[in-house]
Parts: sequence; C-alpha cells; structure tokens
Amino acid sequence: MLRYWDGIVQDLIQLCYEMHQIVNIGQWSQMKLQYIDAENLFGPMTLKACVKDYGDKSEHKDVFPYEIINSKNWNEVLMKTEPFDYEDFKSLLKGCYSNTKDEFDQYLADFMIFTNRLEYLKYYNINDTEVMVKPLINLIDTFEQLNIDVLHYISIASCAYATKHYSTYFPSKFNLESDKQTYYSDFNINADYTNPNPNAKFFVLTAGYWKNKCYHYKQQDYKAGRETEKNVTADDYDYYKRLFETSVSQICSAKFTYDNPPSLDRQDNELTYSKDNCLPACVSCNIAHANRDPKIASLHIKMRQYAIKHNLPMTISDERIYKLLRECITGGLAA
Ligand SMILES: [Zn+2]
Repeated sequence: MLRYWDGIVQDLIQLCYEMHQIVNIGQWSQMKLQYIDAENLFGPMTLKACVKDYGDKSEHKDVFPYEIINSKNWNEVLMKTEPFDYEDFKSLLKGCYSNTKDEFDQYLADFMIFTNRLEYLKYYNINDTEVMVKPLINLIDTFEQLNIDVLHYISIASCAYATKHYSTYFPSKFNLESDKQTYYSDFNINADYTNPNPNAKFFVLTAGYWKNKCYHYKQQDYKAGRETEKNVTADDYDYYKRLFETSVSQICSAKFTYDNPPSLDRQDNELTYSKDNCLPACVSCNIAHANRDPKIASLHIKMRQYAIKHNLPMTISDERIYKLLRECITGGLAA
C-alpha cells in the first residue's frame, strides 16, 4: 500500500513540535491522502477520555502495562498464559496505578479469550486504533446535522468557526426562531455598501506612515526583481496626502478612513510602484484584487462590505484587531 502513496508530501502543518496534518499526493494517481492528527478534532485529551466522551459507551480503551516489558524480558513476559496482576499496572512514570480496579476487572474479562499475553497485546494494539472510529463517526454525524463536513476542516476550532458563520447566514438551518433575518438574501452585487460606518474618521496620511509604505513597496519590487528607481519615495508625501484625502478607491469607490486605509494598487503588475503605474485603493480591496478574476474580486469586496455593514462574522483582516484579540485566543488553527 505504501508503495503507491510514497508520493510527495505536499503540505505539512507542524506547530509547537506537534504534527497536525500531512497531505500526501500519489505520484501516479494524483489522489490526495490527508492525515490529520485526531487530537485536532477532539481537542487535547487522552484516548481513554476521548472514547468515553465521544464514543457510544459500547466500547472502551483497553489497558496494557507497558512499563513491565523491556528489550530483555519481553519474550518471557509476553509468552505467559496468565493475565497480568493488578500490581503490574502500577506506573513508576505516573507514580500511581494506570487504571482503576474496575478497568482491571474489565481487562481480566477481556483476557479470557486469549491464549497468552502476546495475543492480547496484538488485539490491544488494533483495538487502540479501532476505538477511535466511533468517536470520529459521532463527531462527523454531529456536525453533519449542521451541514459541516468535519474532514474538510483542520481542527475542531475551525469547525466551530464554520458553524458560527453558517448559523449567521442560514439561521433557519439551526432552528434559530429568534433570528428570522436571512442575511445575503437582499445582497446585490451592484449595490453600494462602501463606507458602512458614517462616523469613521477620514484617513490623514502621516509622513512616518508614508515612509514606511514606500519602504515596503520598494522591498516588494526588489524581491520580485523589478527596477526600483522610478518608485514612489518619501518626497512624494504631500502629493499622496492630498490624493488620499481627495480621491476614492479606484476598485470599489470607497472613501479612505481609519477603518479603511489606502494603499497603492499597481495597474500593470509587471511594473513597479511608480507614480504612473499606481492608483489608490483600499488595502482590503487591493488584497482581494491581487491576481484574481476581476468579477470574483468584486464579489469578495462587496461581500466583505456587506458583512461589515450588518456586523456579520468574518475573517479578521485588520491587524490591530487581530493583535487585540490574539492575547485572549488559545490555540491557533481556527481559520
Ligand atoms: Zn475598496
């Protein structure tokens, strides 16, 4: 089996020394196999707790006293035909018994059908994997009722995130009687959703902000191997201060405010951030616009503006808000 799958590890997400996901593409079939750490979906907990909390009580995680075997005695210990004693389950690592007396009695009952400890160990190893199947199916079924495909998401946090969005946009699917409003039913791609906050302060360019922008534009061009001698510079400050105050986004026609800061959008992507090649555009529009089909970009921009207007949940795109919220967030793979 492995032979067919030793393709390219396409995507490897690793955080804090823990492996979270590996995507493997078969070299011949181009089929994708995705390996997700089950802990992403259940949250950090032991397998025993997972089977108990997410399972249907018909199965249990079995027990095995790992610490009693080593490279020297394994053959002798495993070939014995009688079950382990309760004392054998005393863990030096944990400083206590690995399992309760009830779990030990369950072990004695399970052991009855095996000829020796090795046969039990074989069963134990397989069962340790099999007990995860029901909890996973239960989790998938639970989210399926909310039209969320668990395996499409990378973590339980991202499933929760999707549920939040889904419940906002399709409240009827969640039987939220209190919320009869179905958002986006009145969405119109030709409507004007710009500048939803009438109290937002108009953006005033400062010399420091502009200097910083120029530096980053130059870095971008430099990295892309473009000549930077015609680039905008700190000396163009007065020109751009006036331009941002008197013009609107050339992509969505929004005014520039502190909620919606300006940026320069390059018209010809082969050329640099020069005065001739750039027009002002919202930072968010500029990002949505980048290398995308203009109609799709326009839809994204309108939907974002609509979401802001109606206070709907959306991906955080403002770095200041992200930093404010980040301190209160534990874990990271939500989006
Ligand atoms: Zn815009």
